[in-house]
Parts: sequence; C-alpha cells; structure tokens
Amino acid sequence: MSLIDVRHLTKTFPGPNGTRVQAVSDVSFSMEEGEVLGVVGESGCGKSTLGHSIVRLIEPDAGEVAFGGLDLAKARKAELKHSRRDIQIIFQDPFGSLNPRHKVGHVIAEPLIVHRIGTRPERLARVKELLDLVGLPAEAVDRYPHEFSGGQRQRIAIARALALNPKLIVADESVSALDVSIQSQILNLIAELREKLGLSIIFISHDLSVIRHVSDRIAVMYLGRLVEIGPAAQIMTDPRHPYTQALLAAVPKIGGDRHAARPIVTGEPPDPANPPQGCAFHGRCPKVMEICRRTRPELGAGNGAPAGSETACHLYTT
Ligand code: SF4
Repeated sequence: MSLIDVRHLTKTFPGPNGTRVQAVSDVSFSMEEGEVLGVVGESGCGKSTLGHSIVRLIEPDAGEVAFGGLDLAKARKAELKHSRRDIQIIFQDPFGSLNPRHKVGHVIAEPLIVHRIGTRPERLARVKELLDLVGLPAEAVDRYPHEFSGGQRQRIAIARALALNPKLIVADESVSALDVSIQSQILNLIAELREKLGLSIIFISHDLSVIRHVSDRIAVMYLGRLVEIGPAAQIMTDPRHPYTQALLAAVPKIGGDRHAARPIVTGEPPDPANPPQGCAFHGRCPKVMEICRRTRPELGAGNGAPAGSETACHLYTT
C-alpha cells in the first residue's frame, strides 16, 4: 500500500483581468514508505504550490491526497491536526522560518508543545536528542537562531521538522538559499536521516543536480503539470521528455562541461494565466510536431518506456 496517493490535485490562483492562473493542474503520483521523490522544474512551474497543497498550507481546488486513511485535501481541521504529526515541511529560507525571538530549544520543542507531548524535562531531553541527530551541540538550546550560520539554521529547521517523528517530510527548496559547500552537507544529512529514520521525503528543487543526490524517483513539472516521472537513475541518464533533456543538459558535470550534448532550453515558460493550446512546452521544444500545437499529451508509459517511467510527450504516443 502506498504511503501517500495524490490524485488529480489542482490549484488555481486569481490572475489578471479575472483570469485564473493554473499553478497545479491534475497532478497524480504515489509514494512508497521510505521513498524519496524529487520534484524539479523551473521557477513558477508549480512545484512549491504542489508541496504546500499536499500539506494543506494552501487549499487545493480539487483532487485527493490519500494519507493515513484520510483525504488530506478535504479533511476537517481537527483531522488535519492529527495528520500534521505525520507530515512536516521544511522551508527554503532558514533565516525566515525560525522565530528570531525564541531560543533554539523552544523553536525545536514547539511542535511538541502544540501537540501537548511530554513534560518540560522530557521535551528538553527530546530537543537535545534532535540536536545531536542533526549534528548540533546540546548547548544550542540556550542560543538564538541569529547566532547560527545558514547551514546550522537549516539543521535547526530539520530538527524541528523531526520532533514529532513524522512519516513524510516535504522539503521545499530546502538547500537553495545555502552556499554550494553547505548545500552538500545538508544533502548528506538528509540522506543519513532518511536511512536512519526510514523517512519518506518529497524533495522540491529547481536544481536537477541537487535533486539527483537524494532521490529514488524524480518527477519533472512544467507549467503546473507533471511531464515526466521515473527512477532517478533513468531520469539522470536517459530522460525521455525534451524538457527533462534540456534541464539535464544544463547540469554541469565535474570538470566543467555540461552533462550531455543536448540543447539547453531557451526562452521563457508561457504565461500560466493564458497557457497555450496543446503541449505547454511546444513553443520551446526542439522536437515540436504539428500535433503538439493542437493536442495536450497525457502522462503515460508510451512506446518503449523504461520500467516505472511515464512521460507526457507525443514523441512516445504517435
Ligand atoms: Fe515537444 Fe511535442 Fe513532446 Fe511537447 S509533445 S515535448 S512539443 S515533442
């Protein structure tokens, strides 16, 4: 049985002149326990809105999020409170996501306080255990977030996210604000914690080179839709969708070259308030065909798809 089953999740926002901006359109996927799913795409593709809709930080317009016997997309507030123990989110900005007026001990203990778990000494013991888990000293409890570096603050945010022993973590661009060397330390920590705690993670990033380090599978989003999903090894070596191929081509290899001799995608994504007919990528796609301008391709295994791989592209359906 899947840990989480997202079906036809859709979210729109009000756009200019009474239009609706399709931030997330009809997105479906499942995850197994202990799995890490990377979600990648350019800025504005809807990946963060997808993550926030799954945890109900924003209200989805339609669709289902089956988790722990509940549909989180429609659950009442009291039901959600319980499920929030099992799903936590880590945000991009370690500077903005920690309350600067509270000491680190209180910041990490806050989920325990909200859910009325443990006595004060028990919570302190748990906080120290969590600090150790994320590689910070126990003395950090009495210091304020501003006394720590960006990477250390993200460790504090991770410790807080782990306080309630969640089953699933949504990590939303959680290393994007950090220097490259610090990014790799945090990625290593996330990989360690996943092994140690059996965590499932939805790891959202605009950067395929970051996603590949932690993901079992990778889902690629373009203009609010999934355009490709498959095993990370396949996506990183043999992507099928032209957009994924272009993202991969932009990833630098060790030594400075690009990852593959494929064209880097140029131009801007279309206006989500006025999406084009047919395939949303057709205006930028080097392999565009006539059908692409008229008919939107559906996500599917298609011709010759590797095991577990699905692509929304007419190259594999015609
Ligand atoms: Fe390119 Fe057509 Fe495939 Fe879209 S459907 S990615 S335009 S080939």
